[in-house]
Formats: sequence, structure tokens, C-alpha cells
Amino acid sequence: MPALQRILLKLSGEALMGDEAFGIHRGTIERIVAEVAEVSRLGVQVAIVIGGGNLFRGVAGGAVGMDRATADYMGMLATVMNALALGDALERGGTKARVMSAIAIDQVVEPYVRPKALQYLEEGKVVVFAAGTGNPFFTTDTAAALRGAEIGAEIVLKATKVDGVYTADPKKDPSATRYQRISFDEAMVRQLQVMDATAFALCRDQNLPVRVFSIFKPGALKRVVLGEDEGTLVHV
Ligand code: UDP
Repeated sequence: MPALQRILLKLSGEALMGDEAFGIHRGTIERIVAEVAEVSRLGVQVAIVIGGGNLFRGVAGGAVGMDRATADYMGMLATVMNALALGDALERGGTKARVMSAIAIDQVVEPYVRPKALQYLEEGKVVVFAAGTGNPFFTTDTAAALRGAEIGAEIVLKATKVDGVYTADPKKDPSATRYQRISFDEAMVRQLQVMDATAFALCRDQNLPVRVFSIFKPGALKRVVLGEDEGTLVHV
């Protein structure tokens, strides 16, 4: 019996690119999809917010000097492409999935409508939220906090390359240790980078815990939903 019933999984765009310089790596997206499908089969309702960094990187040079809001809209469109790829890979792997966009782009993907998203989740479909919050000057971490709060997710699961929050950068300092759990306040005092400040504040204010874990560690997502010690829990 999973410990969690409804989760909001935040995947950065970079999670999809494997060892490529940018773009989407087929094998990597399929591995992630397999992990998601497994927890969905356990009966966990899964919503995903996907980033766009992997695609945006390819155009970042050209975005230098651009109007910030315009560049951010480009970033949001990049998340739509990732969401389409993720939704497609889920469906191909036999998991029912729906993509919903925060920006109206109706010919391509249906708009985000909260009751509809809740209905899909209750039907056991994986819902992929595209286009972040739909507003420039925000990040997909903030979209994850926002959607997580809106759909009543029990937790935001932030997938990173590192398997949790460490006392120091484990790549630079081999003596660094992983926090099993830490409060929002302590993470702030210790200046630990969990999410950007807006996302962090929203989760803390809404009493929405965050678990930082590695999506690249096989079975880690499943262990998280079963309530096992995995990654770092950031709590109120
Ligand atoms: N973005 C935005 N508003 C949002 C979410 C994203 O303007 O609500 C833009 C922003 O430019 C951001 C880009 O989309 O840099 C891609 O999102 P993010 O950097 O969060 O993706 P990740 O780093 O997780 O791949």
C-alpha cells in the first residue's frame, strides 16, 4: 500500500537529456517513464510539471539581450515540447496520460482546467502540466509548488541529479552528508538551495512538503511513494 496517494513530480528539462548537450534523449525519457508508470500502477495519482532547460539551452545564445518576458515565453514553449514528448512516451509505454497547458495553445494541447485535471487524476491518468505557471518571471519549480497546492498533492517530489540535500556540494566535498529531513526554516538559515525562493516560500506557506531525490537512481521514485528513506524531506 503506497504511503502517498497524490504526488506532484517536478522534472527539470535536463532530466530528459541524458548525456546530450541539449534536447531529449530517447533512452532517458523511456527510463523515467518506466519509473512513473510503476508508481501509477501502484494506484498513486501522478501529476508532473516538466521544465524546459534542455531545449532552451539550444537557443539560449540567441536569447541573450532579449526582452526578459519574451525569452520567458520561449522557455514556457520549450516546456510544452517536453510535455508532449513525455505524454507521448507515457502513452507508448501503456500509461494513460494527458497534457495540459497553462498557455492557450488549443490545437496542440488542451488548456489547464483544474477540475479536469482532478478528474484525470482520479481516473488514474498521469497529468503533465506544460507551460509552467503561464507567466514570465517564474520558474517551473514555482509551477510545481502552485499546481501541487492546487490539486491537493501531499508532496512535491523534486527530481534532481543529486539524491537529496547535502550539507555541502558532495561533488566538491566528499565529507558532505545527506539530510534525511530538514525544515524549511533550517534550510533557509543554512542557505541550502532546495528550490527558487518563490517556489520555496509557496510550499512553506501552504504546508506542502518537498522531497528532493534522484530520478536517475533506479527504483527511487517507488521507494519515495512507499515511504522509504530516499532523498531529503523538506518539511514545515
Ligand atoms: N518559465 C516562465 N514561467 C514559468 C515557468 C517557466 O517564464 O512559470 C520560463 C523561464 O524562462 C524558464 C523556462 O521557462 O527559464 C524553463 O523553465 P525552468 O528553467 O524552470 O526549467 P528547468 O530548469 O526545470 O528545465
